[in-house]
Amino acid sequence: MKEGKRMFNSIIIGAGIAGSVAARELAETGRKVLVLEQRDHIGGNCYDEPDEHGILIHKYGPHIFHTREKRAYDYLSRFTQWYEFGHEVVANVHGALIPVPFNLNTLHMVYEKEKADALEKKLIDAFGMETRVPILKLREHKDPEIRQIADYVYENIFLHYTMKQWGQTPEEIDPSVTGRVPVLISYDNRYFQEPYQGMPLKGYTPMFEAMLNHPNITVQTGTDARRRMSFTEDKVLFDGGPFSGEVIYTGPLDELFDCRFGRLPYRSLDFDFEYLDQEDYQGHSVVNYTVSEDFTRITEFKYLTGQKAPGTTIVREYPFAYTGAEGEIPYYAIANEENEKLYDRYKKLLDRIPNVWLLGRLAEYKYYNIDAMVLKALRLTEKIK
Ligand code: FAD
Ligand code: UDP
Repeated sequence: MKEGKRMFNSIIIGAGIAGSVAARELAETGRKVLVLEQRDHIGGNCYDEPDEHGILIHKYGPHIFHTREKRAYDYLSRFTQWYEFGHEVVANVHGALIPVPFNLNTLHMVYEKEKADALEKKLIDAFGMETRVPILKLREHKDPEIRQIADYVYENIFLHYTMKQWGQTPEEIDPSVTGRVPVLISYDNRYFQEPYQGMPLKGYTPMFEAMLNHPNITVQTGTDARRRMSFTEDKVLFDGGPFSGEVIYTGPLDELFDCRFGRLPYRSLDFDFEYLDQEDYQGHSVVNYTVSEDFTRITEFKYLTGQKAPGTTIVREYPFAYTGAEGEIPYYAIANEENEKLYDRYKKLLDRIPNVWLLGRLAEYKYYNIDAMVLKALRLTEKIK
């Protein structure tokens, strides 16, 4: 087979979940697919690896797969078996650990029995059992007693955590963000209510390896696509020559154009990993620090993965505003009108270049979960096919 650019029909930039599903799907049509990944590993932010003590850690923060879409679950199940578990999170509120999302169990921990019984009845009458109420909606309720619960939840679960995570109050950020963690009129202590949830049995990285293991896929890690490709007026250049196959870009859109209109704002995180020579640190996979500390949460990995080991590794997450400095990683798009306008200006630069597709959390500037990325990648490749 010929070397160089004529060898490939399609180029995918980024080997995260979006890029890897897309690569696999195009490869299965018979296309020769090149995947360029700037990091020295595949998997994007889902990447996991054993640390020096043999504990499987998620290098870019805790990732739990959860979905109500059987199609997303079935798709990934081609490449992995699952360690199935219902993920639970507790908040540390002045030393007491209470279930999050705030639910009827939490209500009974926070209020004494008689009051909790009365409030529970009110909530069920107002919203019905097994419903999900966004905190900002609950705060607007006409009943002052329901607003009192809402104020408790707002003050003790949302305000400080959101200030740390976003540098803004819950009212200032897009309501869909706090809507991800509603108040649950339910006794379900799980963080997610979707029917499919768990972890790839042997970890995410082996799942990605299986996905990308296809004779039509070539993966080049340690390769910033911007060094090999350029996106000009109306064409794509690859290794100096025109490339007319499809290109799927999953990186930040502004960086494709040297941030010429200014940077798209993101929130980033510093991960502070610590190994402890003890069997257990916090007895829970994730503890959110909702009224104290500079970090948002502590994850203890063995409770996510089910790993048995004499020691344990934890990670604290410290949020900050992404500046684009060397080594910083953009994790969370900040949804608001101004940022979306800026995003659209960049997107317009691609209007005249045929066959370039934007896919993924960064390229689409959206707060997507893994399952949404799987489904979007499947839909996009169906369209391309
Ligand atoms: P990414 O995983 O970011 O992959 C993009 C890839 O493109 C990266 O590997 C990057 O290096 C590469 N790239 C970028 N630019 C270039 C370039 N110029 N050249 C070459 N390569 C390039 N989702 C869940 O469903 N459950 C969770 O529990 C969960 N937890 C999360 C926790 C944290 C802290 C974060 C930040 C996210 C979490 N998510 C979770 C979301 C999940 O990480 C994303 O949905 C998913 O990883 C997005 O995949 P992606 O392929 O779009 O992006
Ligand atoms: N949130 C909060 N307190 C919590 C959990 C979540 O204030 O204990 C808010 C916060 O603004 C956060 C958002 O809800 O950014 C979404 O939470 P999620 O756990 O989905 O965030 P992710 O895991 O994606 O970082």
